Amino acid sequence: MIIILLGAPGSGKGTQAEYICPKYNLFPVSTGDLLRERKKADDDIARNINALMSEGKLIPDDTINLLVSEMLDAKLASSDQRGLLFDGYPRTVEQAKFLNEALKKHNKKIDGALLFQIDENIIVDRITSRRVDRKTGKIYNLKTLPPPAGGDYDLYQREDDTEEVIKKRLAVYKEQTEPLIDFYTKQGVIFNVDAAAERSETEKEVSDILGKF
Ligand code: AMP
Repeated sequence: MIIILLGAPGSGKGTQAEYICPKYNLFPVSTGDLLRERKKADDDIARNINALMSEGKLIPDDTINLLVSEMLDAKLASSDQRGLLFDGYPRTVEQAKFLNEALKKHNKKIDGALLFQIDENIIVDRITSRRVDRKTGKIYNLKTLPPPAGGDYDLYQREDDTEEVIKKRLAVYKEQTEPLIDFYTKQGVIFNVDAAAERSETEKEVSDILGKF
């Protein structure tokens, strides 16, 4: 099964990915996580990624597609039988076309693109209270999903989760990623999800969709 989570930053894709992957035996591919790892290096590519991410801009398609195709080749050549769940990729029509071709090379295709629908005002509120645990990578929200009491956490705020940067990221989403809705609608693989609902409700909607494949 090959699934894409499509939706604005802060629409809850990462949180749902944590829930879906173990349940449906899917391997998570988050280009945001891959980039956060890559930018720790001390080289020009890392510095370039860092500069673009902290401004809320997209990393160039060539860089991202290379990262994804290396990951895909390694994953699909291995004995790992899990399907794939893409979170945060593709983000441009160019990337979507590239992914279709890369999958075709491996005799695979996208089963579903789940579109997380949510109002922008909710997003800004959600994102500015989002925190990530440095130890586990798990995503929390100070208002709606606080870490369970008694645990030992090392929470931090992503530097692109400030109000200023999130507004920029939303504008980038509208301009560069929203055209993918049309792209995948034409491919007949779009499924709408109410991402503003309670988390458990969204989980149920997602399960209902994935249960059909
Ligand atoms: P995310 O964790 O998915 O919200 O991504 C964080 C940031 O990483 C984005 O704002 C972009 O700067 C960069 N990024 C992640 N995925 C992509 C992608 N598919 N194409 C271009 N830039 C990306």
